[in-house]
Amino acid sequence: MTRPVGICRWCGKHLYPRRRDARRAARVLHPGHHMRPYRCGRHWHIGHIALWRVRGMAS
Ligand SMILES: [Zn+2]
Repeated sequence: MTRPVGICRWCGKHLYPRRRDARRAARVLHPGHHMRPYRCGRHWHIGHIALWRVRGMAS
């Protein structure tokens, strides 16, 4: 399941019911990007990893 189940009423972003769904959608929709699932209320969104985190993981 890579399609969002709806639109967040607070952020206007796509909603995914589970962390697993968000992560899979991120891989399919944004290949090559540093996307990660993050929680919003009872659902999940996908977003970019902050730059400081990318640098932190590389070192
Ligand atoms: Zn949201």
